[in-house]
Amino acid sequence: MMSLPYSELVDVYDKLSSTTRRLEMTEILVGFFKRCPSDVIDKAVYLTQGRLYPDFVPLELGMADRLIIRSISQAVAAPESEVAALYKKLGDLGNVAEYLLSRGRKQVTLHFFSGPPSRAEITVDQVYSVLDRIARSQGEGSQQEKLRLLSDLLRDASPREALYIIRTVSGVMRLGIADMTIIDALSIAFTGSKEARETIERAYNLTSDLGTIAKALATGGLAALGQTRPTPGRPVRPMLAERLSTPEEILEKMGGKCAVEYKYDGERVQIHRGEDGKVNLFSRRLENINGHYPDVAKLASGGISSRSFIVEGEIIAVDQTTGEMLPFQELMHRRRKYGVEEAMQAYPAALRLFDVLYVDGKDMTLEPYPVRREALRCITMEAETISLATQRVVGNPRSLEEFFEEAISEGCEGLVAKSMGASSVYKAGARGWLWIKYKRDYKSEMQDSVDLVAVGAYWGTGRRAGNIGTLLLAAYDPEEDMFRTVCKCSTGFSDEEIRNMHSVFERSIIGHRHARVDSKLTPDIWLTPSKVLEIRGAEITLSPIHTCGMGAIREGAGFAIRFPRFTGKWRDEKRPEDATTVQEIVEMYRRQLKRVDEPVRSKNA
Ligand code: ATP
Repeated sequence: MMSLPYSELVDVYDKLSSTTRRLEMTEILVGFFKRCPSDVIDKAVYLTQGRLYPDFVPLELGMADRLIIRSISQAVAAPESEVAALYKKLGDLGNVAEYLLSRGRKQVTLHFFSGPPSRAEITVDQVYSVLDRIARSQGEGSQQEKLRLLSDLLRDASPREALYIIRTVSGVMRLGIADMTIIDALSIAFTGSKEARETIERAYNLTSDLGTIAKALATGGLAALGQTRPTPGRPVRPMLAERLSTPEEILEKMGGKCAVEYKYDGERVQIHRGEDGKVNLFSRRLENINGHYPDVAKLASGGISSRSFIVEGEIIAVDQTTGEMLPFQELMHRRRKYGVEEAMQAYPAALRLFDVLYVDGKDMTLEPYPVRREALRCITMEAETISLATQRVVGNPRSLEEFFEEAISEGCEGLVAKSMGASSVYKAGARGWLWIKYKRDYKSEMQDSVDLVAVGAYWGTGRRAGNIGTLLLAAYDPEEDMFRTVCKCSTGFSDEEIRNMHSVFERSIIGHRHARVDSKLTPDIWLTPSKVLEIRGAEITLSPIHTCGMGAIREGAGFAIRFPRFTGKWRDEKRPEDATTVQEIVEMYRRQLKRVDEPVRSKNA
């Protein structure tokens, strides 16, 4: 086994932090991947992403700031109060550790007059294995164990290494590297060009694990990825829908005929059962959510007949007395750490399945939608609590509209139209026209809500003094992998939300604009893009001060959302990259213009 000094990874981090240009980041990573030994490349990839495992592994380092402060204090033999005071001043525990370690070493040097004591180099493997042990240490005595492991590691680290170790432990690496940048770099490093990107991306979409992919490439080359298929236990990145606002447009796009399914207002779930019978539930953002929905795991276990499977559906909350569907918010009770049992009683869940990706060893993702739907029907033993999404095949706008009204009256958000063509495969990880959503509120100006990412905040005034009162919000630009601002929002938050706002964002606060944020405004506080909020506005206007869609319609003008209001939905199941895109906002603006020219269409026309 070859070892890689952790200091080499630290050099890479330093270089990455000094640029915001994606091309440069890619080049830095290519150089690193080429010289990284293949047996640690998976670990190096996870660490570079600021974590230890792929998203779906439900293990966290689990160290609160207080415990980290204590570890630093023990490592450098400084009082905890001093570490805490420095943290208050510097705002980043990584910087605190770096400062204290270098101060400590200088003092030693002065004292002995003979240069710093020689220090054995720590390797990536060592750092990873200590962090892994920290994550795995759970239960009684684990806090002491974590404390010991971290302070020992810090004692062996250089100040610069300590900076990144602490940032990894506290979950704030902030290198700003998107998964797509890593994919580009892997492609260039191991095949010489970006052309292999598609194969790598497909493997990534099917396995959601860049570490394992990097290792396969480094050891077996591109051929090792050719056979990638969905595997129970590893979440597949979800297929997503485009949106349109009239039945006519939808049918035109779909070639005159399509299937339409109820769009349930619940939480998307991917359910896996392996050959070993183990059931796993994954959220839209690929986190393991077994803990939130033990009842759903049971429903799927009993209600699906094939031995192993990967199916997708929407979890909905049901009113116990009326049997009617309840709005999405009620399911958010399940996301609390405690009280899942109570929430299960108060808001029992039901399952509406809409896709199947794998059945008993067979990859279904390349089958067209009608074949998948039929396979799903065959394996589902339908009952009140588990059934297929209500569906109809339509060939004219009138029946589509009628079905839409029916869906709305049953408590759904609208419809998802699905292509039935020969190429209607399951496109993992992609938003495309094979699925088109049609929601109730597209009809009037900007009645439609958008999901935006908080990238900055402003202190409140008056009653809100001392609290964050306004958020600077951005849409996502997938082409450049940037977040571009589109409005400032201060309405729709409850008093309690305002009081808690600072602690909600505490971990995201940074002292400068994040490398992936494009903003002309300078908020009081900059945030790492992490939280997604649902926002409704009056309309979309051209704006010289926001950067979303800058220049798309007119030079020097971007787009702004007028009168934005928080709907009350924190979209915690969405990653920042899942937010409404800049292109969608531009599209919504165009449609808004078009609608002004058109006579108002009655819903029942
Ligand atoms: P939204 O915020 O509108 O739910 P999204 O970004 O989560 O959008 P989209 O792919 O744009 O996802 O819209 C489809 C979403 O609708 C799915 O993610 C899923 O959660 C939900 N959904 C409800 N019913 C269905 C269905 N029958 N087929 C597909 N998706 C459905």
